[in-house]
Amino acid sequence: MIDCLIIGSGPAGLMAANVLERNNLNYILFDKNATLGRKLLITGGTRCNVTNKYNVAEFIDQLKIKNKRFLYSSLSNFGTKDVLEFFNNKGVLLSLEKEYQYFPKSSKSQDIIDALRQTISNKNIMLNTKIESIEKTEEGYHVKTNNHSYFSKNVIIATGSKSYPKTGSTGDGVRWGKEFNHEIVPFYPAETHIYSSFVKRNKEFLQGITITDCEVSINNQKKIYAGGLIFTHFGISGPLIQNISELIYFELQKSTVELKIRLTSYSEEQIIHLLESKENQNKRLIRILEKLTIKRLAKYLLLNMKFREDKLVASISKQDIQLIVNKLLKFSVLIDHVESIQNAFVNGGGISTNEINPKTMESKLNRGLYFVGETLNVHGPIGGFNITIALSTGYSAASNIRRD
Ligand SMILES: Cc1cc2nc3c(=O)[nH]c(=O)nc-3n(C[C@H](O)[C@H](O)[C@H](O)COP(=O)(O)OP(=O)(O)OC[C@H]3O[C@@H](n4cnc5c(N)ncnc54)[C@H](O)[C@@H]3O)c2cc1C
Repeated sequence: MIDCLIIGSGPAGLMAANVLERNNLNYILFDKNATLGRKLLITGGTRCNVTNKYNVAEFIDQLKIKNKRFLYSSLSNFGTKDVLEFFNNKGVLLSLEKEYQYFPKSSKSQDIIDALRQTISNKNIMLNTKIESIEKTEEGYHVKTNNHSYFSKNVIIATGSKSYPKTGSTGDGVRWGKEFNHEIVPFYPAETHIYSSFVKRNKEFLQGITITDCEVSINNQKKIYAGGLIFTHFGISGPLIQNISELIYFELQKSTVELKIRLTSYSEEQIIHLLESKENQNKRLIRILEKLTIKRLAKYLLLNMKFREDKLVASISKQDIQLIVNKLLKFSVLIDHVESIQNAFVNGGGISTNEINPKTMESKLNRGLYFVGETLNVHGPIGGFNITIALSTGYSAASNIRRD
């Protein structure tokens, strides 16, 4: 008798397999790919930002999703400290970067996959096996490929989202969830970049410009978002934009989106002071702009405001000063669209958590059916949050499975 069938060998499925193995249970781990953890391999630029330093409260605090409390039990059960200990025990040392992200010291995501595989018996892994359907009976579940059927009382669905479908994540779990009457939140792109024809038109000047301590507002709303961004040949990217891309996505469903970007760390008073001070009057405006922001950007701003390159500070009118202040503090960029669901690093949406037991990830509607990882409607920002959520929910689900 098979105690559990796990569909998907991402971090969620692999962690579930580790727990079942430790508890001496019979299980099969299926993946449609020829290798385990294909997406895991490309995470963190193939370096895998596997977790971060945050405790449960801090971790949850940084999630933008409304249902973030859902993760409280699971992360208390298996959180970032446990992730560190797990890999440490498997001989993979993790090192801290940017004061909060953990990567393997070797900088190889393959080491993370190997560690997750270490104690899983080969006989329990079935690769190149695409699960086509799941059928429920009185006794349990028939999990079917196109030529075979497997039976168990417990099934863990760890098939991920629809992001990067080439890695195998094509949203099958959500399809099955629907068939089992689960409420679904449609997938949407998260943690990704945004497209702007304005930036594209001006790429000659803007492409490659990086602002490390930037502030951005969306459609003149009060909330200010801070972090680093980079202008690309198609639009804007960088941690700050990745962080707010889903907010921009939702705003775009309702209206056009204009970002106001702060291009300088100077305040309005400081900018005015520099432009009005006596000692600067004989200087070229470009030199002052270069002081206020990045050289390349200064050159572009001059062009954007239609000022000559040799314009002197002395020739600036009060109106010009206001224009300069506005450009520097509230540089306007219209956004066309956010990266697609398929090309986004992460997908929001998935199986609604309303019908999932937060302690065990078991369906409240179908006994013995579990949803874990990115298949669930939970996700976090860049920084080891998503892999941790997958490992944690995979752990919680498998810990609940017992032999009858
Ligand atoms: C480029 C990139 C970089 C990222 N970097 C990071 C990072 O550094 N840190 C971080 O925390 N997060 C990162 N993420 C996000 C993270 O990879 C995901 O959140 C995480 O992999 C989700 O894990 P999962 O186990 O839920 O699903 P997945 O990792 O998506 O695994 C799902 C598995 O299920 C299998 N599967 C699907 N359907 C079937 C089926 N019908 N039959 C059999 N098998 C099936 C797939 O082949 C796949 O192997 C990154 C994502 C991307 C795309």
